[in-house]
Amino acid sequence: MIGIQGVSFKDKKVLIRVDFNVPITDEGVITDDWRIRRSLPTIQKVTQDRGIAILLSHFGRPKDGYERRYSLSRLLPVLSNLLQQPIRFASSCIGAAVQEQIGMLEPGHILLLENVRFHAEETLEDSNFARGLAALADVYINEAFGAIHRNHASTSLLPTYFKERYAGYLLQQEIAAIDRLFSKEEAPVVAIMGGSKLVDKAKPIEGLMRYVDHILIGGGLVLPFYHAGQAKQLVYTETEAIASRLFGVLRNSHCQLWLPTDVLTAPEMDKQAMLSTASLAHMPCNANIVDIGPAAQAHFAAQILQAKTILWAGPMGVFEWEQCVAGTVAIAQAIAQATAQGAYSIVGGGDTAAAVKQIGYENQVSYISTGGGALLAYIAADRKLPSLEALKE
Ligand code: ADP
Ligand code: MG
Repeated sequence: MIGIQGVSFKDKKVLIRVDFNVPITDEGVITDDWRIRRSLPTIQKVTQDRGIAILLSHFGRPKDGYERRYSLSRLLPVLSNLLQQPIRFASSCIGAAVQEQIGMLEPGHILLLENVRFHAEETLEDSNFARGLAALADVYINEAFGAIHRNHASTSLLPTYFKERYAGYLLQQEIAAIDRLFSKEEAPVVAIMGGSKLVDKAKPIEGLMRYVDHILIGGGLVLPFYHAGQAKQLVYTETEAIASRLFGVLRNSHCQLWLPTDVLTAPEMDKQAMLSTASLAHMPCNANIVDIGPAAQAHFAAQILQAKTILWAGPMGVFEWEQCVAGTVAIAQAIAQATAQGAYSIVGGGDTAAAVKQIGYENQVSYISTGGGALLAYIAADRKLPSLEALKE
């Protein structure tokens, strides 16, 4: 992957594939513009070089062509405010009219193209469509880290039609951050995996087992692992079967997997439910785990404090409920302390990042990723994703 450092984009038409898939209210208020802000330096590099920046992105999941609420024109006010210059808009991302519009732009101008997902060809990875997009520009930059795991026309196919293709600043930063997990220099490496569903995290956990020293398990991942580890169990649910398979992978690795010794349980998944703390082995039948318990918090914190490299993906409990936030807070605190002591810490995942911000620790971790699914997919794929391979020479 070649970076944009040292490259001059003077008088070049530069197609920048960004990830502007940000949360927005019906009234058009962007509730989190972080992804946009993180991609500004790359856009500014192109305009400061006196090149033309052409921005291409997806936005939501439109089903069948144009839908007003998925129009990227809704981002124009925020974008021109952040970039401090007028942003031009093309009502399509492909075709002769757009090409003509680009032909009239001057160096330093920025053009935002309409949502690439209004065309079914995008997700179908259609090569004619990619060729049509390639006709718009001289240079391709991938700055859409959040979409690197999508094998779509604009991510995995489009770069191959350009002789000049680069990774933007954000994409480089994201990859460099995750790659620290894989270099054995800064050991021990500890991964904390939580969140709602094991199925989302299974492949990344399997990938991590090859590289990290310890995996700490929280959230909705605890029970399937616990049940799969019980020798007396004869019939597994689908999720328990996944956990059981992961135990098989674990046996052939040097990695250790830790379940919480105690948990906070609720008879039903309800904010008002009566909660009780129990050891994992003696928790009430059919109860739900809503957080890790105090003994587990102390144990996990101790593991984190002796780590040199840390990945956190997935909250320890239903942190949105005040009485279930303690486990997630304890992990955030331990990571902040380890980071202050010199460890390198990465936080991935939309909800985990939100939790870290909610607790007020966003400045006390080393790196917060802009793409949860992308980060986990990169780990699961052993760092080989078509969109990134396509950027290589
Ligand atoms: P991320 O977005 O960081 O990848 P996930 O989307 O996988 O994280 O999971 C976050 C969600 O998991 C949160 O909404 C949280 O309430 C929920 N969660 C945490 N622990 C549990 C649990 N034990 N059971 C069910 N849901 C949980
Ligand atoms: Mg999530």
